[in-house]
Amino acid sequence: MMTITYEYEGALYVNLTNKCDCACVFCLRHNGHKGSIYADDLWLEHEPSRQEALDDLLSRDLSQYRELVFCGFGEPMFRWDDDAWLIDELRRRGVKLPPVRINTNGHANRFLGRDVTPELKGRVDVISISLNGSNEAEYTAVTQPSTGKQGWADMLDFTQKAARYVPEVVMTIVNKDKTAEDIAQCRALAERLGATLRVREYIPD
Ligand code: SF4
Repeated sequence: MMTITYEYEGALYVNLTNKCDCACVFCLRHNGHKGSIYADDLWLEHEPSRQEALDDLLSRDLSQYRELVFCGFGEPMFRWDDDAWLIDELRRRGVKLPPVRINTNGHANRFLGRDVTPELKGRVDVISISLNGSNEAEYTAVTQPSTGKQGWADMLDFTQKAARYVPEVVMTIVNKDKTAEDIAQCRALAERLGATLRVREYIPD
């Protein structure tokens, strides 16, 4: 069975795409993984339509979750138009949503070809952007964006713009191989862009 939504630690995660413009060295989509610590099989046999996703979400009591998270085994902003439609459609039907979060690589303005950050306003409460490194070289080596070095600048620009429209903007790094100086640098960078840094624990394979 295809997993469109799954529960993890009291939040509901929405998985609409396996597509991504990066090839992060740690990505769970490589290395023969089918799922993650969150769910067993996140490979989609096809990208669910808006309606399939809506039906799945309507079958759940959304008020019982602490967060609704657009995440995916892939980059969720490839489906931003559908994410936005789903959020609007649920609200239009009077469904009371918990805070809405998107976990993203921050490349959407590039791959969607427009500045989508104003569209986040009133729809998304928290946006979590993967920082992955304290500088362009490290970031590019770890995430291997299809646009190469451009990915770093795009991600920083997206973060700064998103901070105008989203109440809580978080940048994340994993603490593996990071010195205290690296982390301090990442924190200063995040704060300069209007975000807060969250340091995640490394979870080995
Ligand atoms: S951005 Fe996320 S989905 Fe894309 S390759 Fe990196 S870890 Fe995987």
